Amino acid sequence: MRRIFSTMESFVVIGAGQAGGRAVEALRASGFEGRIDLIGAETHLPYERPPLSKELLADDAAPFELMHDQAWYEERNITLHLGAPATVIDRDAKRVVIGDSQTVAYDKLLLTMGGGVRRLDISGGDLAGVHYLRTVEESLAIGKMLVAGTRIVVVGGGFIGLEIAASARIRDCAVVVLEAADRLMGRALPEEIGNVFSELHRQNGVDIRLNLGIERIEGAGKVETVVAASGETIEADGVVVGVGIVPDTALASEAGLDVDNGIVVDEYCRTSDPAIYAAGDVTLHPNPFAGRHIRLESWQNAQNQAIAAAQNMNGANTPFTEVPWFWSDQFDVNLQMCGAPDEWDNVVTRGDISARDGLLFQRVGETIVGAIGLNRPRDMRFIKRLMTAGKTPTAAELADEDVGFRELLK
Ligand SMILES: Cc1cc2nc3c(=O)[nH]c(=O)nc-3n(C[C@H](O)[C@H](O)[C@H](O)COP(=O)(O)OP(=O)(O)OC[C@H]3O[C@@H](n4cnc5c(N)ncnc54)[C@H](O)[C@@H]3O)c2cc1C
Repeated sequence: MRRIFSTMESFVVIGAGQAGGRAVEALRASGFEGRIDLIGAETHLPYERPPLSKELLADDAAPFELMHDQAWYEERNITLHLGAPATVIDRDAKRVVIGDSQTVAYDKLLLTMGGGVRRLDISGGDLAGVHYLRTVEESLAIGKMLVAGTRIVVVGGGFIGLEIAASARIRDCAVVVLEAADRLMGRALPEEIGNVFSELHRQNGVDIRLNLGIERIEGAGKVETVVAASGETIEADGVVVGVGIVPDTALASEAGLDVDNGIVVDEYCRTSDPAIYAAGDVTLHPNPFAGRHIRLESWQNAQNQAIAAAQNMNGANTPFTEVPWFWSDQFDVNLQMCGAPDEWDNVVTRGDISARDGLLFQRVGETIVGAIGLNRPRDMRFIKRLMTAGKTPTAAELADEDVGFRELLK
């Protein structure tokens, strides 16, 4: 694709995480030769977060990797402003304020501010030894705590909490997971998958407590005891909280953009201001496969929505319409899911879900609205293509291991 706009145009990206990093890469790859400013509150160059709860926690020798080094940005003439947040978007003057006073002008602006962790507002929630996980610094701090024999309470049985629990067990910590709901990963996955993961964690020595919320944390200056809502007490050396994120929408709201549990964008990643785009965890966007507006917290969305936004800023007029895809690694299980269904009327399975080697399809009639694979990464690649192509194999074909997904694509 060739650049369509004048080289004098200036594009500014707020948020130097995965989506911001991919966006500036895609701007140059799509031929944009104007000025690019990338503003990041963190001091680091853009990096991807999935290793923070996996490799980086489970193995203290694992290296922390950036998406690109400093020279890469210099070679592409991308101006970096790291270590201070953008504080104001002045839409009338088309400029962004960084920190207290520095300003940067834009012709088009991209918002990729992601989200911040949801914090527990409980007594003892700020004691030393209480951790959250979003940044590399937080991952390194948790990693330091995971010495063999340390007693860790993980609050929240979602993806992040369970990945932390698995990493802590791999490092021989004693791990308790508190989950207020009646099953694990209940926000995103059906009950049968949650049950398989309860079993997986219990077999690996994680003490999974369902239907149990946290009431408070006690200790003299540092974490000593976690008190559950039931009154039960659990001795702990450290607590890691993984109860979700809150999209970082304040800047957009203050600038008068449409916000509703995320910055509202259309299929072209445009906000309610045609000069401002948004991508990644911070967006609430339409998804044709989900049939509604959704906000995704996923690596794939951070990458591909950012690329789509960048290309559209540079003159392409391509809608972003991808089947949502997410993965999680816990112990020896690779979980992948396609789609983001909020309802389905029948389920088909292939293989053996309870043995962690199988697939579960969520369907409405014969339409696949969601698919979950346990240790089936290759199949999931084809299933995503099946869903994208709108194929409707029969239940018998989906269930039969002898029917190849490649065949069903034809
Ligand atoms: C521990 C962990 C493990 C994960 N594992 C997986 C996984 O296995 N699979 C998967 O699909 N997804 C996973 N994810 C999710 C995935 O990492 C996110 O979806 C992705 O990081 C979102 O990218 P983003 O750029 O939209 O937001 P972020 O990565 O949150 O980046 C946003 C950046 O914007 C900055 N910022 C915010 N406000 C401002 C401001 N005003 N000015 C300047 N900068 C600002 C923030 O500091 C941050 O650096 C994981 C996430 C975490 C935290």
